[in-house]
Amino acid sequence: MGKVLVIGCGGVAGVAIQKCAQNDAVFDEICIASRTVSKCDALKEKLEGKTKAKITTAQVDADNVPELVELIKKVQPDVVLNLALPYQDLTIMDACLETGVHYVDTANYEPEDTAKFEYKWQWAYREKYEKAGITALLGSGFDPGVTSVFSAYALKHYFDEINYIDILDCNGGDHGYPFATNFNPEINIREVSAKGSYWEDGHWVETEPMEIKREYDFPEVGKKDMYLLHHEEIESLALNIPGIKRIRFFMTFGQSYLTHLKCLENVGMTSIEPIMYEGKEIVPLQFLKAVLPDPSTLGPRTKGKTNIGCIFIGKKDGKEKKLYIYNTCDHQECYKEVGSQAVAYTTGVPAMIGAMLVMNGTWQKPGVFNMEEFDPDPFMDALNKWGLPWKICENPELVD
Ligand code: NDP
Repeated sequence: MGKVLVIGCGGVAGVAIQKCAQNDAVFDEICIASRTVSKCDALKEKLEGKTKAKITTAQVDADNVPELVELIKKVQPDVVLNLALPYQDLTIMDACLETGVHYVDTANYEPEDTAKFEYKWQWAYREKYEKAGITALLGSGFDPGVTSVFSAYALKHYFDEINYIDILDCNGGDHGYPFATNFNPEINIREVSAKGSYWEDGHWVETEPMEIKREYDFPEVGKKDMYLLHHEEIESLALNIPGIKRIRFFMTFGQSYLTHLKCLENVGMTSIEPIMYEGKEIVPLQFLKAVLPDPSTLGPRTKGKTNIGCIFIGKKDGKEKKLYIYNTCDHQECYKEVGSQAVAYTTGVPAMIGAMLVMNGTWQKPGVFNMEEFDPDPFMDALNKWGLPWKICENPELVD
């Protein structure tokens, strides 16, 4: 039993908080704190009478360390679950350090003025967290998160060594809009308009954005075009999976999404360089975010399934072995359960599980860790229990 302080109250947090409330044998108190407190109050009201957990709300600016420290001291949580934006990771980590509270997030730090996400800033806290005797668990979403746990599980139970990993993220859902993003538009567009990269033979290979395209026939979804992107779990898996030769990440995009994105890029709307507009400084991408549909409103409109998983090739008892571990998730089923589409659901459920395992001591170790560094078994069991059951295929179609 324990108390979680969730920071942020957007699409992902909405699901994670409802899952913590369902899991009230573990989370007996939940404090929801965000920039716009009315969103926290609305969620608290929605949960009233549906959970035994005590729910409180608070307003906080997560860019401000003293404000965060004051809130943490007042709430006295066992764990802080950071579901704000990647820009807030370091301030929240600083506040956890100052108050001696465990930290969990779903996305690695990215400076607001540079679209480059790397673990170096958060890994720099390793020694400080070790000395403070607290745990930071990085990337407890689906990808990174579940994909990292799938990798640790494959290594533990199926392989002597893994040489190749292809992470495939397919959203076969349709929301009916010509262009919308499934999670925070600013973060999503920064990610997909950046150069691609993959890890091969000990170094990064950089590609132009969307340069590498493949088609894949996804179980329960069908054939989709997918594109190679840089993705943060590649960086930590390259260090933590012994014998690894290559790791790639592919995400599916429809033609309408890509055509709109190209057009927005060509006219400068995806730029993060501030410009002056009628005497006021604005960032084009932040303005674009303001006119696009809010991802948390896509739930009722989105139909179809997601399929996210990893294909592994390696060796067992001297022989080559292949394995595909994946989860499929139905947008409408998620909407029925928590009022959100599957992209928020597939991130919010693992966020709750990560917070639970850190809080109850199963995944507690002083320092800063990525998901694949812990025993995957309790996480894999919890995925089955809390709405993201996974499947294993021993003879998958491979990506060339
Ligand atoms: P949203 O934009 O829907 O929600 C972000 C929330 O954070 C909002 O409630 C926002 O407040 C709040 N927030 C932003 N800045 C501050 C601040 N300075 N102080 C306090 N609160 C703040 O984003 P999502 O829910 O889509 O994404 C949340 C996180 O999940 C992101 O880091 C994203 O990268 C990550 N993610 C991870 C995935 C994975 O698989 N690992 C997949 C998808 C997302 P306000 O309401 O005022 O705007």
